[in-house]
Amino acid sequence: MKPLGPIPPGFSAIDGELAIGGRKASALVAEAGSPLFVYDGALISGRVAALRAALPERLGLHYAMKANPFAPVLRHMAGLVDGFDIASGGELAMAEAAGVLPEQISFAGPGKRDADLEAAIARGVTLNLESAREGERALAIGEKLGRAPRLAIRVNPDFDLKGSGMKMGGGAKPFGVDAAAVPALARRIIAAGAEWRGFHIYAGSQTLDAAAIAEMQAATIALAERLAEDSGATLPACNLGGGFGIPYFPGDAPLDLHAVGEVLGEQFAALPAVLAETAFCIELGRYLVGEAGVYLARIIDRKESHGEVFLVTDGGLHHQLAASGNFGTVVRRNYPSAIATKFGAAAEEEASIVGCLCTPLDRLADKGGFPRAEEGDLVAVFCAGAYGASASPVHFLGHGPAAERLVNTNH
Ligand SMILES: *Cc1c(COP(=O)(O)O)cnc(C)c1O
Repeated sequence: MKPLGPIPPGFSAIDGELAIGGRKASALVAEAGSPLFVYDGALISGRVAALRAALPERLGLHYAMKANPFAPVLRHMAGLVDGFDIASGGELAMAEAAGVLPEQISFAGPGKRDADLEAAIARGVTLNLESAREGERALAIGEKLGRAPRLAIRVNPDFDLKGSGMKMGGGAKPFGVDAAAVPALARRIIAAGAEWRGFHIYAGSQTLDAAAIAEMQAATIALAERLAEDSGATLPACNLGGGFGIPYFPGDAPLDLHAVGEVLGEQFAALPAVLAETAFCIELGRYLVGEAGVYLARIIDRKESHGEVFLVTDGGLHHQLAASGNFGTVVRRNYPSAIATKFGAAAEEEASIVGCLCTPLDRLADKGGFPRAEEGDLVAVFCAGAYGASASPVHFLGHGPAAERLVNTNH
């Protein structure tokens, strides 16, 4: 038997069934169909409230919407956070459609096309420049439109986040401008009449180690100070990145937010003059939405092969690639999962939950311990609120997309 990841807090059983936002899994599937992603709005709101309580008041909270761009989630989030970080022209359109104000949006991401730059500049969205050349293109487009572009520089820092799932900084990277080249670019865009917005410094993602985050934030603030001094400009804003992880796997423990907040509070109390007026923010994706989402799928077949039990579902990696272990993980480990229609019942057998794709990669839970499940039962894969529906190869094998629902938003 292989262990399963820890089921996040906030889920209960009603009549022996998993309930999400107070509604039974079977009722949600009867209404919306299967497979289904369900997101609990109250859990998202609670997450934001916990961050506000633990982190310094001065720190703005941004949502990195690539984690979950489902329109009702965006609308829910718009009332909760201070800004949205987008990474494409398509995300700009989705954020606007959800009622996010352009001045709350910043746009990072390599390979911005002229049409993307033009849409962002025309609306007054902040561009986090990924290269000096992108800066020149933005200035030229601003001139054509008769609008001063709002420009920040995404810095490729000389360090990265320890214990981070995906390395995004340190050494040669397609993201951001190497720290050494930043001051010259800052002087250039300020002299050219852009609206100067400061730095965006993102050093990594998905760590559960509060000390590693605190150390990264301290290094980020020190780098921002040095680059601001060398640029001869104060910083209107500075995005300190993110990196706050969630427990996915057996043995993972939640991030100690208070420890992060305490160290950052000390940093803010001792800021140098060049950062005294700076509006700081962090940008989080999975930490805000990941644990609030559950992926539900129905068991279509129960079969045995060479003594092993396979619960074959109507879902799979085409909706939930990350749970199959094929989205940026080195060693496959089990996400938290359960038989939703027998939630809380004791484990009776070892079984693997697989999807309906003709590939051995399509395994949602490998040799876990579950109560005995039959055709028609529902399975739940937790930690499905981030990088699920939008980060899985939905066209592979033609089964079509999963349904999505946001529930429990009246809080
Ligand atoms: C992906 C990304 C994020 C969000 O990462 P999470 O691990 O979901 O918090 C934030 N900022 C940037 C620049 C990103 O690319």
